[in-house]
Parts: sequence; C-alpha cells; structure tokens
Amino acid sequence: MTRTELSVVVPCFNEEAVLEEFSGRMSRACAAVTRDYEIVFVDDGSSDRTWPMIETLSQNDPRIVGVQLFRNHGHQLAATAGLSIAAGNRVLLIDADLQDPPELLPLMARLMDEGYDVVYGKRIARAGETTFKRLTATVFYRLLNRLSSVAIPEDTGDFRLMSRPVVDILNNMPERHRFIRGMVSWIGGRQAAFPYARDARFAGETKYPLRKMISLAIDALTSFSTKPLRAAVWLGLMSSLFAFAILFYAVFQWSVGNVVPGWASSVVAISFFSGTQLFVMGVFGEYLGRVVQEVKGRPLFTIGKICRKDAMAEIPGD
Ligand code: UDP
Ligand code: MG
Repeated sequence: MTRTELSVVVPCFNEEAVLEEFSGRMSRACAAVTRDYEIVFVDDGSSDRTWPMIETLSQNDPRIVGVQLFRNHGHQLAATAGLSIAAGNRVLLIDADLQDPPELLPLMARLMDEGYDVVYGKRIARAGETTFKRLTATVFYRLLNRLSSVAIPEDTGDFRLMSRPVVDILNNMPERHRFIRGMVSWIGGRQAAFPYARDARFAGETKYPLRKMISLAIDALTSFSTKPLRAAVWLGLMSSLFAFAILFYAVFQWSVGNVVPGWASSVVAISFFSGTQLFVMGVFGEYLGRVVQEVKGRPLFTIGKICRKDAMAEIPGD
C-alpha cells in the first residue's frame, strides 16, 4: 500500500445536511498541513443522499475516498472500516457534523510534531448538548475509570490524531465491541490532550439516541473490565447473608409462637432474591453473549463499495 502523509476518517450516517460544508472546511484544514492527504468518508448504511453525495465529492477530487458499508454497523465500526482503508502516516478521526472543528487539525499536527503518538481532543466546553448528556457522560467516565485498569480520559470522544504505528495496532485488535477511545488509551505511547471547545452540530440531528449511548456504555464497561462479574459474586454473598439473617429471624418468631406473621417479609425476600438473581444472570449473560459473538469471528464490517478517482488516470490538462 502506498502511504500518504495524512488521512482523515469520517464516519457518516445520514449526514446529507453537513457533507458539503464539512468537506470544504476539512479540505482547507488538510491543505494547511500537507498537499499529500486523503479524506475517507465512510457511509454507514445511510438512507438519505449521503452516499451519492460522497460519490460526487470523490469524482471531483482525487483526494476524497468513499467507502460504502452494506448496512448500518454503528459509529465505532464505521470508524474502524475507515481506519482499515486509511493509508496516512498520520490519521485524524473526526465526526462529520462539524462539532469537532476541522480547523484544529494544523494545531494538533504541530503538537504531534513534538513527539506524540496520539493527540486527542479534550472537550473544555460543549455547545448545544443537553445537561442530561453531560451529566450521564461525567457519571459514566467516573464509573468506567473506577472499574477499568486502563485510564480513559474524561471529556474525550474519538476526535483524535494518531500516528501510523498506533493505527496499525488498533487495526490488529480483533474485538468487535469496540470502544475506540479506550482501545487507544490501552495502546499507550505518548499521548497528549488537546483542549478545545466543542461546537453545536452544524445541521441535522444526533445519530446517537439514548439507546445507542447505553449500548456504547455497556460495550465500554464489558470490554474494559471484568469487575462486574466479581461484583456479582459479592452481591450473591451479601444476599445469602441477608437470607441467613431472615432465616434466624423466622426461627426466632416460630420459637416464640408467632407463626402466621411474616407474610410480608417472605414476599419481600422472595422478590428481592429473584431480582438479584436475574440481575446477576443478566450480567453473566452480557459477557457470555460477547464471548459467543467473538467466537463466531465474523468480519467487523461489510464494505460494499470503495470509490476513488484514480489520480494516475487523470489526463494532463484535465
Ligand atoms: N454515525 C455513524 N453511524 C451511526 C451513528 C453515527 O457513522 O450509526 C456517525 C455520525 O454520522 C457522526 C458521528 O458518527 O459523524 C457521531 O454521531 P453524532 O454526531 O450523531 O453523535 P453525537 O455527537 O450526538 O454524540
Ligand atoms: Mg455529533
């Protein structure tokens, strides 16, 4: 594979409203760094005009590459597909919606010149995001860092510039429930935070509804910690102790002749324990389900089409 200086990977899901603007701003930012760059747009099974727009962009500019997935695989896997195609010595991962300003690229590249392997964007302000989203994010990262042995920086998304060795290692990590920001932290090397203010979405709506946020959070927890399994053991132990206490209480009541009372405590105990058991089984199930999926070893994403205008095919004077 011939290398370019810089690749930009952009997962896009129904982003017709932002693509033109993004492409213009991103191209200018790249040109400020090097002439030898490519922008890889990954269409994650969009149902709007995202793909035809990407095709047009790539026909008009040989530095733009379009990758079409056969269906929606989700943000993390779309990004993974893009990273597998990207040929740059440095790779920028960025969202299409202009929440992460493309103009920061030259500054991030300069920071990387100081000898860093990863420069990740750290949000110091977030425009246009709900208090709910910020609050849940804070709680989630606290919890994740408490459970995981890998330190994953807070207020950080997947917006980051990575060196080729880091991208190669990332591409060789076969896991399918991917939490890219955590995986990059796991890789290590010299990593620098780049503080920036996150803008509001340029147009369109968030493609991360609560359901997808919860799913990403569970993926992160299960792939970066097995402590919930340990917690299940403790929970089981505690509830057994509690059951013993109730047992002694029941025996005591029986010995003093109080046989009938105790209906309420039985019901409470039964529902408490069955709830606990179901919860613990659910935790086991989450891990087991992931084992099953890993064992199947299916490909992580399905690339249907790649379009790029062959720069070599360009006739002089074209
Ligand atoms: N995205 C994707 N596939 C999905 C959901 C989102 O490729 O299934 C892309 C989306 O087009 C955007 C990025 O992932 O470029 C982040 O999504 P979004 O901006 O909607 O998330 P938010 O910033 O609201 O968390
Ligand atoms: Mg966004």
